[in-house]
Amino acid sequence: AKSAGRNTVRFFNPEMQHKVEQRAKLETALSKALEQKEFLLYYQPQVNHHGELLGAEALLRWVPSDTGLMVSPAEFIPLAEDTGLIVPIGYWVIETACRQLHDWQQQSPDRLFNLAVNISARQFHQHDFVQRLQEIVHSTGVNPSSLKLELTETVVLDDIGYVIDRLHELRTIGIGTSMDDFGTGYSSLSYLKRLPMEQIKIDNSFVRDIAHSAHDSAIVRAIIAMGHSLGLQVVAEGVETEEQRAYLEKYQCDVYQGYLFDKPMPVKEFEKWLN
Ligand code: C2E
Ligand code: CA
Ligand code: CA
Ligand code: CA
Repeated sequence: AKSAGRNTVRFFNPEMQHKVEQRAKLETALSKALEQKEFLLYYQPQVNHHGELLGAEALLRWVPSDTGLMVSPAEFIPLAEDTGLIVPIGYWVIETACRQLHDWQQQSPDRLFNLAVNISARQFHQHDFVQRLQEIVHSTGVNPSSLKLELTETVVLDDIGYVIDRLHELRTIGIGTSMDDFGTGYSSLSYLKRLPMEQIKIDNSFVRDIAHSAHDSAIVRAIIAMGHSLGLQVVAEGVETEEQRAYLEKYQCDVYQGYLFDKPMPVKEFEKWLN
């Protein structure tokens, strides 16, 4: 490292240097991950209060070929967002999910099954997003009414009018949308009633303490009641215990997702849910 002169402040210590280098390495690896085919999708079931399958959420996984060790999305999604790589990666996710969904729809045309896909704000705001989505729906032959896009509250921070227009276009194609991590952002109520969406997902941070915190339990109850009064379906994520499930059922939650039912898993393993 460069030695600091007499009156200079040494703001770049070896630990920071290491972090910066690690990040640069990760970024280089991430930029090659698509062409190296290092991504895959895991699927986690979503069920009703009887535990019957309603659908699944597709969750991205990255296994760099040099290490063979899975990197958590919590680690690489923020980096992909910063670098803009999230856009091409996001299209890979949509296309892969649609091909898989089409496969399942072919196997059992009568099965009602929704596949949820996470869409980053940056991708949603690409000017040709809806058009490219439509192309993917067309080329994969998937029934779009079984597709659900999970958006976070950051999507609507910018220009709510623009977002409302796009949501109407999606609705026209038949694609539904869900407000992910609901309750973690702000001004949720004021915009929610203006957005043409079908579903909200209560963030797992509220579900976690539902059985032990009167406060969180009241919040969850209120979110569900409010969601229903706006005509929205309500999903709870991160359901881990029977106790949490029982509270959610009491509050009339519609859809349940979490380790209590099953973890996210590769296609082959997930297909046990479809038989
Ligand atoms: P998310 O959308 O809130 O997804 C739910 C996360 O909770 C997933 O983490 C899932 O594995 C985890 N989870 C499921 N059941 C439980 C449970 O019972 N308890 C707890 N504690 N956690 C549970 P994962 O797969 O690590 O993904 C983390 C985040 O990365 C996601 O949060 C999402 O924001 C983002 N992400 C994942 N896949 C994609 C993608 O394809 N595109 C984009 N843009 N973001 C993605
Ligand atoms: Ca999600
Ligand atoms: Ca979520
Ligand atoms: Ca969450």
